[in-house]
Amino acid sequence: MHSLEDYYEIVGDRVISEIHKRARRLFGKHILHVNSTYQGGGVAEMLASLVPLMNDVGIDTGWRIFHGNPDFFTITKKFHNALQGDKINLSEIKKRLYFLANEDFSVYTHLDHDYIIIHDPQPLPLIKYYKKGQPWIWRCHVDLSHPNKELWEFLTRFILKYDMIIISNEKYKREGLPVEQRIIYPVIDPLSPKNMEISDTTISKYLKKFGVPTDKPIITQISRFDKWKDPVGVTEAFKIVKKHVDCRLVLCGSMATDDPEGYQIYEKVKRKVEKFIANNDVILITTENNILVNALQRSSAVIIQKSIREGFGLTVTEALWKARPVVASNVGGIPLQIKDGENGFLLDPYNTKGFAQMIVQILQNPRLAEKMGKEGKEIVRKEFLITRLLSDYLDLFNDMEK
Ligand code: UDP
Repeated sequence: MHSLEDYYEIVGDRVISEIHKRARRLFGKHILHVNSTYQGGGVAEMLASLVPLMNDVGIDTGWRIFHGNPDFFTITKKFHNALQGDKINLSEIKKRLYFLANEDFSVYTHLDHDYIIIHDPQPLPLIKYYKKGQPWIWRCHVDLSHPNKELWEFLTRFILKYDMIIISNEKYKREGLPVEQRIIYPVIDPLSPKNMEISDTTISKYLKKFGVPTDKPIITQISRFDKWKDPVGVTEAFKIVKKHVDCRLVLCGSMATDDPEGYQIYEKVKRKVEKFIANNDVILITTENNILVNALQRSSAVIIQKSIREGFGLTVTEALWKARPVVASNVGGIPLQIKDGENGFLLDPYNTKGFAQMIVQILQNPRLAEKMGKEGKEIVRKEFLITRLLSDYLDLFNDMEK
């Protein structure tokens, strides 16, 4: 567990001192975050880094995990997808189970904090079961640009009870919603196992363990096997690249055993590159391991993120932090992180040839790669590290105190 001073060498004295100043008016406040671990790793990862830092600067901050049974999480997964635009059959039984889990949680969780922060849709209706004695904030991490209308209307009745909502992108703002909406970009923790400095020995050890040789340049996409991440498109770009430069492609995507779609996509990718797999020129990895991700990112000559849709794209942030040049789609939060031609290249997701050309350009031009990598790292240092998130939360509480 880290304290703020551990970040001093990374972000410098000014950032640290500003954070302490911002915390001053909040001493003695009690803050609570509520989320559900089952909803993917990103949110939990951020809270695991943020909560100790908030305590470290003098604000008592807790973190409670929402409990639910498998039926509840099946329903809220559907809610999650529908918030991002999928269709949903919003039946009475779904609504009832959604409420029931929230009511249950409220019975054995007493909240007397000064601020309550609710993450994502699962615990959103909790607010209905408490006598409100403090500001409540809903932190929505999902892409809200095209929410399913019926579901959005259903959820709005709870959202209206909140004092503020936090979203990840200007594009996710809901016109006409009479609740203050604030944009806070996601961040990475430079000291977490996925992002911390690791030695060359550790990198070699992990690459060896997962069967990745280093005799050729490696190009990598780290992403779930998901249609929106376009792994098949990545293999097509790779086939073009391979005609110009001898290199190796690694696709690393951890697989949830209960995700049949992920498995199908994995199989499809495998069929498309059978010959390359046999030669060990394409390597597919499905193990989830933070240090492996760290090692792969650090040892790749180019990182690809050929997503068709992307909420923010933390894999891009992680790669930039490791001073890697990134060739990525011009979608979602990626253009917030990559300036085309400066710290990477941005392309239309369907421009497979363009992806290949840019990858070749970087592979053939190590100086360009190095320059881009350096610039990328500085952008992340300034804008996308956990210290910035801490600072944004302190600003938010200070504003709400006024
Ligand atoms: N990730 C991982 N192992 C994998 C694939 C992804 O640890 O095999 C991590 C990745 O490093 C990143 C997160 O999962 O931290 C994915 O976040 P991102 O915003 O890129 O995409 P999402 O999966 O949330 O759509």
